Amino acid sequence: MREKEILLISELDNKARRNISLNSLFSREKFENIPIIISHDANAGALADWWFDIEKIDLKGVVVHFLVGEGVGAGVINNGVVFTGSCGVAAEIGHVSIDHEGPLCVCGNNGCLEMYCSSLAFIRYAEEHRRTNKNSKLNNEIRLSADLIFSLAKEGDEIAMECVKNAAYFIALGCVNIINCYNPDTIIICNEMAKGGAMLLEIVKENVKKRVLSTLYEKVDIVISSFKGDDILFGAAAVAIDYCLKRPNILKKTTIFGEKSYAKNIEAI
Ligand SMILES: [Zn+2]
Repeated sequence: MREKEILLISELDNKARRNISLNSLFSREKFENIPIIISHDANAGALADWWFDIEKIDLKGVVVHFLVGEGVGAGVINNGVVFTGSCGVAAEIGHVSIDHEGPLCVCGNNGCLEMYCSSLAFIRYAEEHRRTNKNSKLNNEIRLSADLIFSLAKEGDEIAMECVKNAAYFIALGCVNIINCYNPDTIIICNEMAKGGAMLLEIVKENVKKRVLSTLYEKVDIVISSFKGDDILFGAAAVAIDYCLKRPNILKKTTIFGEKSYAKNIEAI
């Protein structure tokens, strides 16, 4: 989506994710007077949570935006500042291995968390298990979706409930790793798997409680995101605004204030 001087990209097409040159895509010639700022999606989501706090849960301290969708990742905010790491991907929790003998992941590691609790893994698990109970309504559909599985689970379909339980177990393992790495005040479970709502959250909490020190468990608030709309898109705007507020001179260099000037090179944050 492009609106005047700000270009917001919520996500790239799957096929376009590899071997693309952002430098040529956002070349100086095409965007002569526009500052280009690039951020990791989970970091943008984390900033959106912090800035907009849609859930009104009074965010403070360390907040982790635990993105569990087709991919799994996290954005970490420490008192309003995103912890980016060296290349902007500090909390790639989806590529923490939970089974060193597990299947090979695209990142080169084995048994990465993403392979067990992403929405794709959730659907795959349902496809593999639905035939174990011919009464499951999951068998009535050719193509499954995360929405459908959650919906049937809430209706009491046993296989669908088992799918939610399995995904929630692995999401809990992700939360445990997040807690031990970042000692957060709040973990917000976001994106497609957040649609599991209270049913999913209850199982996540049960499993987290068993696996972390009780003092840490009592300190952390684990919630399901209730952000309406595209939190990453809001986050993209928040990233751009945050960047400009921290570097007000950049605005003088754009045409926003009618000055003929130049764009900076792409900055990844
Ligand atoms: Zn991996």
